[in-house]
Amino acid sequence: MMRQTVLHVCLFGLILFACKPQHEEKSPSTENIHQGEIALVIHGGAGTILKENMTPQLEAEYQAKLQEAVKLGYTLLQEGKSSLDAVEAVLRILEDSPLFNAGKGAVFTNDERNELDASIMDGATLNAGAIAGVTRVKNPISLARKVMERSEHVFLIGSGAELFAEQQKIELVDPSYFFDQKRYDHLQKIKKQETNKQLAGTNHDHKFGTVGCVALDKNGNLAAGTSTGGMTNKQFGRVGDVPVIGAGTYANNRSCAVSATGWGEYFIRSVVAHDISALVEYKGWSVKEAAKEVIWNKVAKLGGDGGVIVIDRKGNIAMEFNTAGMYRASIDSKGTLSVGIYK
Ligand code: ASP
Repeated sequence: MMRQTVLHVCLFGLILFACKPQHEEKSPSTENIHQGEIALVIHGGAGTILKENMTPQLEAEYQAKLQEAVKLGYTLLQEGKSSLDAVEAVLRILEDSPLFNAGKGAVFTNDERNELDASIMDGATLNAGAIAGVTRVKNPISLARKVMERSEHVFLIGSGAELFAEQQKIELVDPSYFFDQKRYDHLQKIKKQETNKQLAGTNHDHKFGTVGCVALDKNGNLAAGTSTGGMTNKQFGRVGDVPVIGAGTYANNRSCAVSATGWGEYFIRSVVAHDISALVEYKGWSVKEAAKEVIWNKVAKLGGDGGVIVIDRKGNIAMEFNTAGMYRASIDSKGTLSVGIYK
């Protein structure tokens, strides 16, 4: 009798097991060891950012804007939005703020114009979009994303990029929208220094405030984006590293997502963003080790300066720079917020 009961219980168990609904089964294709972890990092440019040159009020404004942007991005990730959505939304906020050298408040070219560059990359697919030298696009990062998603190309420049923007119903503005008095004054100061031999060379910091964002979403996907006005006094259609995929921006789920800021010529020559990704992917280095290596042993040794933000699929973060400061903020996978300006 006892034996029979045991047998029945076993049989019942077996039937229950066989009837287990399919969605409860763990299929290897949906298994993701880091699924659910989210994190986001932003930068607002690197350079000679010194406390003694900053007023308490300006410092508070930077802190507040960085916090607003990083918190918005994190909230979107919490809601289950993709890392691409978070990167784009965060960069739009920073582009709209005249505190940063991107969108409104971009630096001036030698002929007193604002020419904007941006790029975005999807770590899941290695799709990328980039634009350079646009003068009427209110939010260049959104145009870069449209290039990635709605065109068969990766990189569009100048009037062609703006024609595409019109077709995609991207918001266009009069170039005067980007004007910012302090950026204009900075250009005049640099021009004066250049004509005054005694002063020439006293200010090599022609950049301040490029914006970038890297993010990890709930599905374990990485994305990176960067947007800039470039460098003050840039000439002849100069384009820096920001829209060059692999130099200023790179994202690959197999390694990490990177956004750079600094002296663009050196960042292009050092292929900074992809170099960091390659060290992580092929050598198994941590994002911190890889960022340190490229910023200090490559860029700095060539004579360049700047910094990077990096994130991997585990939510590990690096914020490395060889300048006096870098505007930056992050919310890590534990939800810890950190905001920094100086070393
Ligand atoms: N990397 C940018 C450029 O060279 C400038 C910057 O990051 O501040 O255009």
